[in-house]
Amino acid sequence: MTAKIIDGKAISEVFRAEYKVRVDRLIERGVKPGLAVIIVGDDAASQVYVRNKARACEAIGMHSEVHALPADTSQEDLLTWVNNLNANSAIHGILVQLPLPKHMDDRAVIEAIYPMKDVDGFHYANMGALVIDESWFPPCTPFGVMQMLAHEGVEIEGKHAVVIGRSNIVGKPQAMLLLKAGATVTVCHSKTKDLKKFTRDADILVAAIGCANMVTGDMVKPGAVVIDVGINRLPTGKLCGDVDFESAKLVAAAITPVPGGVGPMTITMLLGNTLRAAERAAGMAKSAGFTMMA
Ligand code: NAD
Repeated sequence: MTAKIIDGKAISEVFRAEYKVRVDRLIERGVKPGLAVIIVGDDAASQVYVRNKARACEAIGMHSEVHALPADTSQEDLLTWVNNLNANSAIHGILVQLPLPKHMDDRAVIEAIYPMKDVDGFHYANMGALVIDESWFPPCTPFGVMQMLAHEGVEIEGKHAVVIGRSNIVGKPQAMLLLKAGATVTVCHSKTKDLKKFTRDADILVAAIGCANMVTGDMVKPGAVVIDVGINRLPTGKLCGDVDFESAKLVAAAITPVPGGVGPMTITMLLGNTLRAAERAAGMAKSAGFTMMA
């Protein structure tokens, strides 16, 4: 068996086309959805991510602005930037690119973002709301995974989903979203003993580890759906995921590639969260609670 390749780029295009229609509708009402991104310092990878986010916004007609601050910016100054953006009605979503320089407290900065503009979904209020299924802004990467699964018609209810990784931005919210969708969820992490025992039992396997090609084909249950969140750079400069794609694709029913899998969906969900924030500000949001709409 060779797995179906889940094309995150193509799925993203479907979502972005729909978003563009909604952006145009808002603009007709005099509201242009706006995303502000703050980046502190000159980390090369972060700069690429920020540029891609800004381009993606503009491509669907949203306003985007990037505030690049020097690495020695004080936390107080950064908080002033956040507060000014909180008060700016032209900005519906605020994202502070992580990681911040070492002299800053990431958590204090995230908590300063107004929760209804926290389109990354990392604020305590949004994280807590996620746990009780009422989040407006599920974190973009795990939300993107859920939308991919839905788009591919993957049945989740009653299935065993195994998430490898327990980070606040991917693993934990991924587990919550899968739980909400009716899966029986197991979360594995660096202290898990006999990882293979769990992964071999997964109908849906999500790898969010940060370790190149760690999940090999013999760790995958035949017919499983394998979602590779990892982005790792090999010494050759090539990007690869946490899953050994070549061996896993011979066992899985469906698998995401790296690049071109989860990555594009993450940015797409950021657009969706920002758009939803603008619709809410314009009184056009469809519901007040958690929804799986993207
Ligand atoms: P993290 O370092 O915060 O967390 C990694 C997790 O992996 C930890 O919970 C740890 O317990 C677990 N882990 C580490 N070694 C393990 C092992 N040997 N066995 C089992 N579990 C182990 O990383 P993160 O921020 O969650 O990101 C994970 C990966 O996903 C990284 O490669 C990152 O670049 C990538 N990522 C991709 C996107 C995207 O858009 N595709 C977004 C965010 C993160």
